[in-house]
Amino acid sequence: LPKDIHPLNIIALELDNFCPLPFTHGRQDHWFANDGQLTKQAIRANTISALQPYPGAVLWDIGTGSGSVAIEWMLTHPTCKAIAIEARADRADRAKENAVRLGVPSLQIIKGKAPEILPDLPPPDAVFIGGGLTSPDLLETVWNALRPLGRLVINSVTIEGDLLLFKAKEKWGGEITRLHIEHYESLGSYHGFKPARAITQYVVQK
Ligand code: SAH
Repeated sequence: LPKDIHPLNIIALELDNFCPLPFTHGRQDHWFANDGQLTKQAIRANTISALQPYPGAVLWDIGTGSGSVAIEWMLTHPTCKAIAIEARADRADRAKENAVRLGVPSLQIIKGKAPEILPDLPPPDAVFIGGGLTSPDLLETVWNALRPLGRLVINSVTIEGDLLLFKAKEKWGGEITRLHIEHYESLGSYHGFKPARAITQYVVQK
């Protein structure tokens, strides 16, 4: 081990061969054990920024998958709280393991389906929907639960999801942005940029 190492970085050392644990969001994808359903690094960095965490704020991460968004929300400040909702039990368990390994064991994981599970939870200051955007019901429930000045961020990758976002914007205002990321990779003996699936992102403040 290198000398004079800060205790927080021990976590990172175990994960990634002496790569320090950075303070900013958009941490590396492979730090979050996942089955492919993951908000990838560049989009995740943008998503946490859009959510605008502040001390003491409570996030609902709906469709938490690997838990990456909820975990990075909690890592922004020791007082930030997150409730991660996940319909699939195996993913919920994995999200819990990721939270423990990355130093935020107090992440609250709810195994269950949105919107049914939501009325029992403490009201949020911010909500991220990364999955389960299948019904207008979910949006209504979330909007009503959100505290005044709370922020709602939704990433959609389907036309059906986009449609709900367009309607939501008519009602509540906010902004819709398309995010395109391309990564350099080999193309036969040459190189090119491979586009990831574009994300439609809705951001609104109550
Ligand atoms: N942001 C996550 C990836 C989300 S993938 C990450 O970075 O890891 C979308 C997730 O939403 C999937 O795990 C899926 O099981 C979950 N999901 C879909 N519909 C849901 C619903 N109605 N309630 C809760 N979770 C749901």
